[in-house]
Amino acid sequence: MISKSQFIKYFQCYKYLWLYKFKKHLLPEEVSSQQQKLFDEGYLFESYAQKIYPDGIKVEGMFDEAVANTKKAIKEGHRILFQATAKTKTLFAMADVFVWNDTTSKWHIFEIKSSTEVKNIHLIDLAFQKICFEAAGYEIGSVNLIHVNNKYIKKGAIDHTKLTDFVSLTKDIDDLIKDVKFDIDKALKLTEEPEEPDIKILKQCKSPYECPFISYCWKDFPKHNIHNIAGGLSVNKLEDLMDRGIIDIKDIPEDYLTSKKSILHHKVVKHEKTLIDKPNIQKELAKLKYPLYFIDYETYSPVIPMFDGYRPYQRIVFQVSLHVQEEPNSELKHYEYLCRDKKDPTEALSKELQKRVTKPGTFISWNAVFEKGCNKEMGIRLPEYQEFYSDMNNSMFDLMQIFRKGYYVDRDFHGSASIKKVLPVLVPKLSYKDLNIQEGGTASESWAILTDQKKEQQEKDKLYTDMLKYCELDTLAMVEILKFLQKL
Ligand code: SF4
Repeated sequence: MISKSQFIKYFQCYKYLWLYKFKKHLLPEEVSSQQQKLFDEGYLFESYAQKIYPDGIKVEGMFDEAVANTKKAIKEGHRILFQATAKTKTLFAMADVFVWNDTTSKWHIFEIKSSTEVKNIHLIDLAFQKICFEAAGYEIGSVNLIHVNNKYIKKGAIDHTKLTDFVSLTKDIDDLIKDVKFDIDKALKLTEEPEEPDIKILKQCKSPYECPFISYCWKDFPKHNIHNIAGGLSVNKLEDLMDRGIIDIKDIPEDYLTSKKSILHHKVVKHEKTLIDKPNIQKELAKLKYPLYFIDYETYSPVIPMFDGYRPYQRIVFQVSLHVQEEPNSELKHYEYLCRDKKDPTEALSKELQKRVTKPGTFISWNAVFEKGCNKEMGIRLPEYQEFYSDMNNSMFDLMQIFRKGYYVDRDFHGSASIKKVLPVLVPKLSYKDLNIQEGGTASESWAILTDQKKEQQEKDKLYTDMLKYCELDTLAMVEILKFLQKL
């Protein structure tokens, strides 16, 4: 038997389904914070989408019990079911919303997804549901997707009718049914195979979802492997290299690489040396005008807007860290703001920031497009700060570009220009490893806990300190990386 979620795994990679069936013990014990966020968002959005159907009832139970309860609810006259469940000898599926239509005398399926658009994987998901429910004896009319309408702007209470968007996928699914049935047969056969399938790793491990078996499947890959080359390689090239037994970046034939990024990365791995383009670094650094304002924001992007004026998934800038250096070699000053309450932080944060920016200078950030975007949105929300944020954006310097443009390339950056990869190589004394919060995703999710009134004060106080330390390190890291580059 195969369930809908297992078939989705098969669709991503048939080895994923096989491992899930036969080597489940290899799965990590905990789900990643990123995955947990996806689940939480999904459940939350679903609860709002269900409000569209006030007469809907939830089918309780799991597996056979849910199948029986679905039949029972229909027999009792219920015509809108949440989590209706169907099972055949080989298939098992649940439909988020199952609606009877008197005019068509058919059941209609509505899948709820917290994404903002239709994705290919949703079509596979719905095709599987249709096949399973029809095989179980239900006549299916339309198949549809309810997803997040990211144009909705909150004003007062959440309007679930505006928060949601409906798309009919009946025609697309009908075109797919034959292929999906064919794949279901193949997936069923695979679940009876005793041998672990041998497959080539191309691009399937992170798309559409990050596969939890990565640490198992990738264990024999060398540190500098072809999957990590800067800029990435096409599926065809990866396949060709693997056919030739090439998995180490240093073994890639030189004429194989076309982008500047990949050529430089290949060079530093092959010759085990660092490439430093001093004239270009110097040219970039000559653009800096003191005082230097090293700035970093942390943001939270909830699916259901928390405050008026926000759209679904629109970022809330809840924290800033600012290191200020008035002149070369002058004392470094640090300022910070972290909102502890569940309120729109824009005004308090803007006020704090404006107080600290006393003279025109250069703002330095890492991946400035992010900070600039936040500034633009805050300026729109607070017109009285529009000029302040626009001036800041006009004098923003993106320190990451020195690495992205290939002016400094080290093989231990692993083809990345992320501060998390650059910092340990250039400034090993500074490290995220000793912090309780080590990456932006966790910092972002921490804000939901920090502002949750139901959480213990002691837990929140500790989290507050951890969040401050994390954001401070982000700006201090830029200070030290700049110092390193200036010394060159
Ligand atoms: S890690 Fe990649 S190759 Fe291994 S099962 Fe997952 S998707 Fe397939």
